Amino acid sequence: MKGKLVVCATPIGNLGDMSQRAISTLTEAHVIACEDTRRTRKLLTHFGIQPRELLVYNDANERRQHGKLLDRIRQGATVVLVSDAGMPGLSDPGYRLVAACGEEGFEVTVVPGPNAAISALAISGLPPARFVFEGFLPRKSAERRRRIEELKDDERTLVLYEAPHRVAATLDDLAEILGPRPAAVARELTKMHEEVLRGTLEELAKSARELAPRGEIVLVIEGTRQGRAEVEPAELASRARALMDGGVDRKDALSQVARESGMPRRAVFEALLDDR
Ligand code: SAM
Repeated sequence: MKGKLVVCATPIGNLGDMSQRAISTLTEAHVIACEDTRRTRKLLTHFGIQPRELLVYNDANERRQHGKLLDRIRQGATVVLVSDAGMPGLSDPGYRLVAACGEEGFEVTVVPGPNAAISALAISGLPPARFVFEGFLPRKSAERRRRIEELKDDERTLVLYEAPHRVAATLDDLAEILGPRPAAVARELTKMHEEVLRGTLEELAKSARELAPRGEIVLVIEGTRQGRAEVEPAELASRARALMDGGVDRKDALSQVARESGMPRRAVFEALLDDR
């Protein structure tokens, strides 16, 4: 039998998202390579899977484990790679093993499934057609700010992972450098406390400072509007009217629509006048 590597996605919180293929793939695996045996054992036990062999494959030992895993595939084993959650390789170990298997000419196949970035993008309400995934920004503020500067002129929607204790600082840096852009904070996706907060970067930074959100978080930020079609006056007027009908005073409605649309406040003002 010819060996192969299978990259297998697992749930990002809700075990109901485990696919039938993931269950049969893990059941049939000769070797399961995982980040944390305790965590993966829990998942396997939940689905009644008895692993033949579990090997740790994480950031700390991935170089050492390569030789072992490649040998097993060479000998005909099916090695299944999982991470603690979601799709291996996406802000998780995996890419180097996949590349090494490619170089050796081994078959590499995928069992697709949950991924936090794509899930957050899909429910963010921000344009999903073109996006850039940056994973975790650097932890140190100076490096983080430099990276955000590099992303400033990108028109694509930006998707980031962030730890809860750093989310307020990161949103502050994003708000300061990118300006008043629409964004979303997607938290605890697929779990009991799933929520999506939408607003400008400034508003979300303020709320993160006040509420100190917990759990797992994805940030989604609209790209720059440079070069993008302007929002039509009728649309600006209708957004402002909807706010005013809901009790927001005219001045605040103008500011909010300007901020959220990226259009000048004067354009919203004139759109309202013309719309009468
Ligand atoms: N490989 C995973 C994937 O496919 O999404 C991501 C692993 S990365 C080490 C972990 C980060 O993903 C978390 O810090 C958080 O930013 C994001 N994440 C994972 N699960 C999540 C969830 N249920 N809700 C929101 N974000 C989540």
